[in-house]
Amino acid sequence: MAKIQAIRGTKDILPDELQYWEFIHNKISNLLECANYQEIRTPIFESSDLYDRGIGKHTDIVNKEMYRFHDRSNRDITLRPEGTAGIVRAFIENKMSYHQNLQRLWYSGPMFRYERPQNGRQRQFHQLGIEFIGSLDARADSEVIHLAISIFNSLNLTDLKLDINSIGKIEDRSIYQAKLQDYLQQYYDDLDPDSKKRLINNPIRILDSKNTNTQRILSEAPKISNFLSLESQKHFDAVCNYLKLLDISYNINNNLVRGLDYYNDTAFEIKTLTSKGQDTVCGGGRYDNLIEQLGGIETPAVGCAIGLERLLLLAKEKIELPNKYIDFYIATQGEKANEAGMKIMNVLHQQLFKIEIDVSTSNFGKQIKQANKKGAIACIIIGNKEVEQGLVSIKWMSTQQQESMTIMQFEHSISYLKKKILFYKSINSY
Ligand code: ATP
Ligand code: MG
Repeated sequence: MAKIQAIRGTKDILPDELQYWEFIHNKISNLLECANYQEIRTPIFESSDLYDRGIGKHTDIVNKEMYRFHDRSNRDITLRPEGTAGIVRAFIENKMSYHQNLQRLWYSGPMFRYERPQNGRQRQFHQLGIEFIGSLDARADSEVIHLAISIFNSLNLTDLKLDINSIGKIEDRSIYQAKLQDYLQQYYDDLDPDSKKRLINNPIRILDSKNTNTQRILSEAPKISNFLSLESQKHFDAVCNYLKLLDISYNINNNLVRGLDYYNDTAFEIKTLTSKGQDTVCGGGRYDNLIEQLGGIETPAVGCAIGLERLLLLAKEKIELPNKYIDFYIATQGEKANEAGMKIMNVLHQQLFKIEIDVSTSNFGKQIKQANKKGAIACIIIGNKEVEQGLVSIKWMSTQQQESMTIMQFEHSISYLKKKILFYKSINSY
């Protein structure tokens, strides 16, 4: 029969790999806890309207990349391509601002985009994002950027470049957009096909075209920085000033625009300087109009999202995972011994020891080899001799020391066993 395979662009995360995911998850969630950000979880699918209205109809994501379908009741549904729109919907729907006007939130989970799979680009991928809702202050932008950078630094990733830009308010942008359109129109024939298409619907996106010819044309194009209102300019200067204060180096990139319509003023990206493939590991910015646009009360906000697959590609080689271990491996031989072993297993399990029971019929030599392989601190051995005398033997693996006790004694020795396990853990640095 034909094998069933995972869908193109999706990946299994197997147990060994998952250890790295857990490692970074713990690191990041501790860090966010310290910054007093709270985790939020929203559904993986939403009404497609949310993305049409939130991300924007003329963006690549909505046009080409969404997993969009009709469910059995003919609802138009989309698997979330990003996290912010869903959080804003939840914020409005649950009247979150009613309880607290500033919300510092974070999320992590799978996102879905129909893109050409390659290294660091999947159709189901994971993002971890932070959102600071409710403040217009430049300190909010800087806090979000600072947090993103410190997430990377906490994983020993320092070869990074922070690009930042102000894309102004929507009004500034529409004036700029018209100027840019006029300018590019003169070079229409020389533009790459993608940029030709964008010229009508989304000309600003042409700014981050990778096509060298288009880039050459753009070098003389009007710059967004010349179209910013005084307020936007002041805000941008303040953000840059705080970044300097925080010792975060940045590069002002006037061609940095983001692929989603909802941003205004601050836009930023963090790139790695070391990867050959997909180098953008974090993207974000301010979105002061999104909440109102989705039916809420006008509320400013700023946030960003980190691509976890790309983060892991970089972080993995710097992560030293702790050695794998278990507290007790239970080795038995013979039916009566198997029964005693099951009882011991139950006692240890209730006391929350990390244990594994050998369910093979191999000889003790082989079972003890297994115990070593699993990194067992101790092996509990019950054979015919032990059964006859009602005993259990405990072999402490690193010293080969062995001791015996009756089953009764064993059950009353839990605190002794806990201390011994702790001792062996400390000398073996588990
Ligand atoms: P790119 O330019 O790489 O397509 P983007 O601008 O579409 O990125 P955002 O929407 O800003 O990406 O998402 C934030 C981060 O999520 C990206 O910087 C990247 O690290 C990650 N990301 C985006 N799309 C994918 C994908 N298809 N597979 C893996 N990671 C992704
Ligand atoms: Mg993309």
